[in-house]
Amino acid sequence: MAAPSPIDRAPRSRVGILALQGDVREHADAIREIGGEPVSVRLPRDLVGLDALILPGGESTTMRNLIDRYGLREPIRAFADGGAPILGTCAGMILLAARIANGDEPVLGLLDVTVRRNAYGRQLDSFEADLSVPALGAEPLHGVFIRAPVVSELGGGVEVLARDADERPIAVRQGNILATAFHPELTSDRRVHRLLLEMIGQ
Ligand code: GLN
Repeated sequence: MAAPSPIDRAPRSRVGILALQGDVREHADAIREIGGEPVSVRLPRDLVGLDALILPGGESTTMRNLIDRYGLREPIRAFADGGAPILGTCAGMILLAARIANGDEPVLGLLDVTVRRNAYGRQLDSFEADLSVPALGAEPLHGVFIRAPVVSELGGGVEVLARDADERPIAVRQGNILATAFHPELTSDRRVHRLLLEMIGQ
């Protein structure tokens, strides 16, 4: 029998993607592209054995209802407490936030920020912008914003990775929690997903 190649020996990171609603497939493709194994998460038992988790974009009100219907709120919080990295994009950032400015109750409360939903208003419903993200290198990151939130208040331990043209935080990290107001899964730049994989075991 042939000796396993180094690639066979390196375990592939298993990355859960909350698959209740939203742009699940795009995140799965991104994870596959960088050598990870995407796993759909619909029930608490789907979290077992995962190395990381992604909360995709979509509609946070719908996702909030489904998270509660499937009993996922406490299991996801416990998963985060175990230290595994979590990436929330757009609606996913709203799910992670400790406070929501528009008066909604927080969902997971894992990220010490206040977010404002649909912060760019009707005129700028959707737009794209090149962002400076020094933590990901000198090359600008192309951000796709779709009815995006912004961070309106930052807690003490939260690192800002990128800001919009008005200097409002739109990518943040706090320990094992990473969140972007934009959609890194909708472009071909994989640096945000790579960062999530790099955070495994840190
Ligand atoms: N506006 C949506 C919300 O408030 C988020 C939009 C998105 O994820 N693209 O939940």
